[in-house]
Amino acid sequence: MPIDTALQESFAVSRALSTDNVHSDRRFGVEHGGLHKPIHTSVQYGFDRVEDLIGAFQGTYKGGYQYARQGTPTTAALESKITALEAGVGTVCFATGMGAIAATLLSLLRAGDHLVASRFIFGNTNSLLGTVEGLGIAVDKVNACSVEAVAAAIRPETRMVFVETIANPRTQVVDLEGIGQLCRERGIVYVVDNTITSPALFRPRSVGASLVINSLTKTIAGHGEALGGAVTDTGLFDWTVYPNLFSSYRKGEPKGWGLLQIRKKGLRDMGGTMCSDQAHRISIGSETLSLRIKQASKTALSLARWLEQHPKIDAVHYPWLTSHADHERAKRLFSAGSWLLSFELRDPSSMIDVLNRLSLAIKSTGLGDTRTLIIPVAPTIFWEAGVDTRKEMGIAEGLIRVSVGLEEVADLIADFEAALR
Ligand SMILES: *Cc1c(COP(=O)(O)O)cnc(C)c1O
Repeated sequence: MPIDTALQESFAVSRALSTDNVHSDRRFGVEHGGLHKPIHTSVQYGFDRVEDLIGAFQGTYKGGYQYARQGTPTTAALESKITALEAGVGTVCFATGMGAIAATLLSLLRAGDHLVASRFIFGNTNSLLGTVEGLGIAVDKVNACSVEAVAAAIRPETRMVFVETIANPRTQVVDLEGIGQLCRERGIVYVVDNTITSPALFRPRSVGASLVINSLTKTIAGHGEALGGAVTDTGLFDWTVYPNLFSSYRKGEPKGWGLLQIRKKGLRDMGGTMCSDQAHRISIGSETLSLRIKQASKTALSLARWLEQHPKIDAVHYPWLTSHADHERAKRLFSAGSWLLSFELRDPSSMIDVLNRLSLAIKSTGLGDTRTLIIPVAPTIFWEAGVDTRKEMGIAEGLIRVSVGLEEVADLIADFEAALR
């Protein structure tokens, strides 16, 4: 359902995010009183009255399911959870985070439009922006740590600004508040990818985001065993002035129009659907979100401080370090520094040996797992981007990314100490 007003009303704003989250399935009529939403595997859904079947197609019959490509009761339950976590008005889930980003851009933008994106952005999103350009949508990538750079790029045909909260992998924190203000003044859709912070550390609605993206695969699911993505409408954007919405989706409450088009195009037409099994796993994983992120952020800060004083380390990038360029902004906006940090060795030629000597931190491409994962950035995830793009994004050739897990900090430090010796 694009707008879950019942959910909005039943979740008391005074309750903590973690309290609401662990009780959310129970509150929304789980069958037989089960405390978890079951995994609904049905692809087809039957109707007792043909009028209701017709109504489901014409948007006049609410509450039913038709065909699982457009959603199931299990994915709907997860959507309600994400909506509550992000304090939004509705959510659509996708098979992956990239599925959510692709559906958002391709559903809302048309040839001739202009998109302003942060230059400090996830590698695959950056690659997707190239695809979007090929469809006739102009893209400008700017240093979004400065709102002036974003403002200078805006044109009459700018429809969207796209940024991340803490940029993966170099941890820049863009001017989230300034850009929010700018987008509000100019009537531009403001999309914030909240993957690294998650709603447990930051709600982009608080800085005026129109749409919030989460790769559920990472912080929210948290165990490296389920893929998923979500786009949440915060209810702040006035869709009545957005020119790219089809007339069939300009029906009912305007707050739901944008998301309805994203759902219809992204799920029904493009088929990027999350399956019920994944929705169930992500929902279970999300129950420990607050605990995990608090613990991992604490460990990440200790590790970052330890690395920073080590003679063989040249630079450490972690927003909670006072040496970080965006430290003040991060402190003001987020409740902790997250599980993502990166660093550079004084002698980059020792990188391969140092990484091979680590025994606890796993050499892996992933992020947001319970285990600590580590990867050299330039020769792997940013290899295809090329040296010029890496330079533009502030990615040194010897940059190493760490996704901090739930190990004891003393064990992690011992592992790094031995590897650096
Ligand atoms: C991983 C990631 C994505 C993509 O998510 P998937 O679920 O892997 O498709 C998007 N944005 C950011 C910031 C990410 O780290």
